[in-house]
Amino acid sequence: MTIAIISHPDCLLHTATEGHPECPERVKVIQEALTHYPFKVPVKFLEAPMANKEYLMPAHDKRYLDWVISNVPKEGLIQIDMDTYMNPYTLNAALRAVGAVILAVDSVMRHEAQAVFCNIRPPGHHAEREQAMGFCFFNNVAIGALYALEKYHLERIVIVDFDVHHGNGTQNIFQQNKQVMYCSSFQYPFYPGYDEEMDSDHILSVPLEAATRGDVFRQRVQAAWFDKIAAFRPQLIFFSAGFDAHKNDPLAELGLTKEDYVWLTEQIAKIAKVHCEGKMISVLEGGYNLEVLAECVPAHVEAMVI
Ligand SMILES: [Zn+2]
Repeated sequence: MTIAIISHPDCLLHTATEGHPECPERVKVIQEALTHYPFKVPVKFLEAPMANKEYLMPAHDKRYLDWVISNVPKEGLIQIDMDTYMNPYTLNAALRAVGAVILAVDSVMRHEAQAVFCNIRPPGHHAEREQAMGFCFFNNVAIGALYALEKYHLERIVIVDFDVHHGNGTQNIFQQNKQVMYCSSFQYPFYPGYDEEMDSDHILSVPLEAATRGDVFRQRVQAAWFDKIAAFRPQLIFFSAGFDAHKNDPLAELGLTKEDYVWLTEQIAKIAKVHCEGKMISVLEGGYNLEVLAECVPAHVEAMVI
């Protein structure tokens, strides 16, 4: 049982406006915490390669990719939406983020690691096929899942997204793709909105009212997901790992704790053990309290190998 942790210094160079919550320190404190955590299993640290553009194409339109590439500023910032910005290093950071997930897929599929954590930014789950939004440019997890389906001829992948925001981008990309089961829990009503009508047998949403705490969160996700994930018999499981549903996160109003993240990770890891030799890939999404990230990420990563 080996854990791999993948990151790259380029992910620290993408910045937005002064004081923006999606800041380089997030990846920095996580890397620091993971480096010093007393893991019970062997851990290897890997550098993310730069993803080739062709890996992005199954998830995103070529026109959109060309638009992102041609809009990289030579200096300063350009604003993409209300709170999403590009600086001269954003494209490289985003391509390292995708590269991390591609390397993660190769690592677990070649049995070089059982579980992988991608400590990367910018995050991805709001990025739709043709749209950057909500701090996201390329949908890292969706790109990784599509790569795994194609390269390793997989047929059934589960994505568990416990970020406090609905992963509209991931749902957008897999709405018609029954090879991917998308399980998402999120605060609702809240950014970016959610349409119950779009739920289906492979889009399993768990909207949670503001102030929902761990006990109710656990009941709701257990009822909505666990039997269905097991019946689906996943060959690989991804986490869209956002830690902004934590009670101390500054952006949202749910009440989760480290114990809730560990519990969910262990429950999913048990299913992974039965159906896919424990193959799991977790990719950082949101989470804006640096102390919470330093506390919760290592515990989540270790809980993947039980
Ligand atoms: Zn979020």
